[in-house]
Amino acid sequence: MAGTALLGRLSERLRWRACTLVEERNETSSARTLVFDVPDWPGHFGGQHVDVRLTAEDGYSAQRSYSIASAEAGGRLELTVQRVAEGEVSPYLIDQLAVGDQIELRGPVGGWFVWQPEQTEPVLLVAGGSGLVPLMAMIRARRAAGSRAPFRLIYSVRSPGDRIYLAELRRLDPGLDTTFLYTREAPDGWPRPAGRLDAEDLARAGWPPDFEPTVYVCGPTGFVEHAADLLVDLGHDAERIRTERFGPSGG
Ligand SMILES: Cc1cc2nc3c(=O)[nH]c(=O)nc-3n(C[C@H](O)[C@H](O)[C@H](O)COP(=O)(O)OP(=O)(O)OC[C@H]3O[C@@H](n4cnc5c(N)ncnc54)[C@H](O)[C@@H]3O)c2cc1C
Repeated sequence: MAGTALLGRLSERLRWRACTLVEERNETSSARTLVFDVPDWPGHFGGQHVDVRLTAEDGYSAQRSYSIASAEAGGRLELTVQRVAEGEVSPYLIDQLAVGDQIELRGPVGGWFVWQPEQTEPVLLVAGGSGLVPLMAMIRARRAAGSRAPFRLIYSVRSPGDRIYLAELRRLDPGLDTTFLYTREAPDGWPRPAGRLDAEDLARAGWPPDFEPTVYVCGPTGFVEHAADLLVDLGHDAERIRTERFGPSGG
């Protein structure tokens, strides 16, 4: 019986669903949030992603993964897509897809890189670029659940214009501390010079390892590996560091 229920849930998640773009908004000059109406959405946790499939009239199709940006809210899902220059799928989603158009998606995918409202321990979120997307879903899920789990976010971007969800991050969210880091260009008068995330940043803006936080790190592959190495060197237990890699290194 239990096996049958499990298979039922699994086939639901593997099923491609046609969904409709109902809203879109720019986050930065190169990132756009797309809001989809998804029929019979089974629900999700912050941190999970979906697979998106685009199919051309001649049958050619392309598939990519995108993190879910929104907290669970009925049949609406938000994705935030960062343009990859010369990319096949991301420029299409940003420039071509229009309200009313349909694409296919399936999910939710992922059971490890998730935050669930029953978690009460301190949480450290470490984002590089668009790696903020699934971490924002965790922040939104925390807020929606009225959770008091203490959250700290360290968000690394190239320059101030690259920050997504800026207005929302600036709003006071009790129990959430946000630290911005800039790798190439910092705002005028910013106390920390532009540069790559380092151990001092994590020690200053993160939790001490003794607090036993669960740490979620997401971004380009090189960023994630660098951050995870620094966290282990600082004394964080590797078992409590959960990572999600978006793709090639850089950024
Ligand atoms: C679990 C998961 C979740 C993801 N969530 C998001 C998300 O929320 N938002 C988002 O924008 N992207 C996300 N991605 C990345 C996304 O799946 C695509 O890889 C990205 O949109 C590029 O696809 P593309 O077709 O435009 O580029 P492609 O045609 O696949 O690649 C074009 C060129 O860009 C390089 N490239 C590919 N991906 C990246 C990248 N991520 N960074 C830098 N260079 C790259 C390739 O090596 C290639 O040279 C996620 C990836 C994974 C695995």
